[in-house]
Amino acid sequence: IERTLSIIKPDATRRNLTGKINAKFEEAGLRIVAQKRLHLSLEQAGKFYEVHKDRPFYGELCEFMASEPVVVQVLEGEGAIAKNREVMGATNPANAADGTIRKEFALSMGENSVHGSDAPETAAVEISFFFSGLEIV
Ligand code: ATP
Ligand code: MG
Repeated sequence: IERTLSIIKPDATRRNLTGKINAKFEEAGLRIVAQKRLHLSLEQAGKFYEVHKDRPFYGELCEFMASEPVVVQVLEGEGAIAKNREVMGATNPANAADGTIRKEFALSMGENSVHGSDAPETAAVEISFFFSGLEIV
């Protein structure tokens, strides 16, 4: 059974969409096995997104992620990483399939409502960035 890290981003927490987004995960068979609400500092956002540090949108992305609270969570299920990315939809909401979170809720490429780990290695690193083993049940 696989686990992945999910973040409900500030554009979504601000619009009170946490429950609607969680319903999409649960309907897809993903179980929320850890969850907390945090307001990231700019430094924490920068460290989390360090892989993107040379991309032109890095500064904007980090400022957005630190602008308001986020909900970080661990989702568990068969093929959870791929399943979560399917439920999230394409990075750019204009390209996201019907029924996906980003199609329904994302405002733009930057303010796209959710983050999900993209591979087993990154999922492990990202989960341990936010949670200790005891917090995941
Ligand atoms: P995430 O990592 O958040 O799950 P993703 O894997 O679909 O999203 P990445 O390519 O990893 O997309 O980009 C990370 C995040 O950076 C995107 O979710 C988006 O918020 C932001 N981003 C990516 N490309 C752009 C861009 N061209 N302009 C503005 N923001 C962008
Ligand atoms: Mg990514």
